Parts: sequence; structure tokens; C-alpha cells
Amino acid sequence: MTALPEPPFRTVQAPAAWNAVDLISDLHLQAAEPATFAAWQRYLQQTPADAVFILGDLFEVWVGDDAAQASSFAADCAAVLRAASRARPLFFMHGNRDFLVGPALMQSAGATLLHDPAVLDFAGTRWLLTHGDALCLADTDYQRFREQVRSSDWQRDFLALPLGQRLSLARHLRSESEARKPRDGAYADVDGPAADAWLDAAGASVFVHGHTHRPAQHRLPSGRQRIVLSDWDAAAIPPRSEALRLTAAGMQRIALA
Ligand code: MN
Repeated sequence: MTALPEPPFRTVQAPAAWNAVDLISDLHLQAAEPATFAAWQRYLQQTPADAVFILGDLFEVWVGDDAAQASSFAADCAAVLRAASRARPLFFMHGNRDFLVGPALMQSAGATLLHDPAVLDFAGTRWLLTHGDALCLADTDYQRFREQVRSSDWQRDFLALPLGQRLSLARHLRSESEARKPRDGAYADVDGPAADAWLDAAGASVFVHGHTHRPAQHRLPSGRQRIVLSDWDAAAIPPRSEALRLTAAGMQRIALA
């Protein structure tokens, strides 16, 4: 497989009226963690940003948009998105936990599905936005798994299963991936040369991703920046909930809790 997506990279051109854009990711929303849900809802009600980009793993698991009819938690999340999108544009990119978010949820949420990767052209900079898992190339088992579950055949077959069966399969896949985690904590990270290749192909200058839960600001081999978003856990000590705010003055991590 090739790490380089088919060009051209899709670009979101920010309207001139936008002064601030927020990027968030890896909230892993789930019914068992009401504090993070509440922090996220409060954040969406209060952010001064002109647009919010969610770069994947908003949900701990998403097994199909029909879950929002069956489960009150998924429906609550959809309602929060709907309220937020009435105030400002919302963009959503798939992560490795919620890649089955489909057009039905996007429509009911009033959100726009972003291709992964995408380029945001804002404040004179082309920001390359990606969840991040696609370039964790050293984890070859995961990349094989990803290729399988992102295929339209696999997704069609999976979504045709009854909801209960999808939920138990998702739990099974989750425990398998937990079992595969390295015990020494040597998790795969975004591959630097591949990130540079994406920036080159996209004509972009800053690489922004989530997924690894290791917020940082790195230099790529080319010298350009690779920015890693924080995950959210409002019940942790200290709590983690953060947006990366882009403005004409640059970028700033906004601690929300
Ligand atoms: Mn992820």
C-alpha cells in the first residue's frame, strides 16, 4: 500500500470573515464518561471560534448512524452537534473509532464530513489536517486492519448486521487491539518523512493531527511543524480538554477545564 493519498488534497477555503478556527480531536465520548460529554457540550456553547473542526475519534465507538435512534447517548451527542452547528460551521473527520459515522448523522448534526487528509486554507497558511492513524506506518498489523475496515465491502457487510451484533463485534475488535498494544509503551507514531511527503503533495506548511494522545509540537525532517492535538478526559486529574485555536496571530492551545 502507498502512504500517499490520491491528489489533489481537498481544500476547505476559509471565508475571509473567519477570525478564529478551533481544532479538537480524540474526545472518545461514551455514556460511561459524562464529565467529558458535559465539558464538550459547554465548550461548543461557549467557544468564540468561527468554525470547529473535529479531527476524529469524537466517539469512543460508532457502529452506524442508526445507533443514534437506538441509544439515548448517541442521540444526545447528535443533539449537541445540531445545536452547535446552528451557531457556526462544524466539520467532522473520521478517526479509527468512529470511521462509520455516515451521511445520516452528518445531516442531522448539520455538520460537513471532511475527507482525511484535508487542507484548511486559513489566515494565509495551508494547514494539513488528518486524524493521524493513516501515517502510523510502523504498526503494520494496524495498517492491514485499517485497509480492511475502510473498504466499502467490509463496511457494507458490517452495517448490514443487526445493531446488537455490531456492538459486540466492535467490543471484540477493541479488546483484540488492546491485547496487541506494546507493553513497553512504544506505540507507533506518525512517520516523519511520510508527513513531509503529504505536506509537499498538498502544498501545505503545517501538519496537524490527533490520534496518538501525545500532545506536542514536533519538527519534521524538513523543519516544518507537526502539531499533535490533546485527547480529552474531563474526569482525569488534572482534567484534559483542549482546543487548538488558529488565528491570524498563529496557534494557541486553549485549556478548557
Ligand atoms: Mn485515534
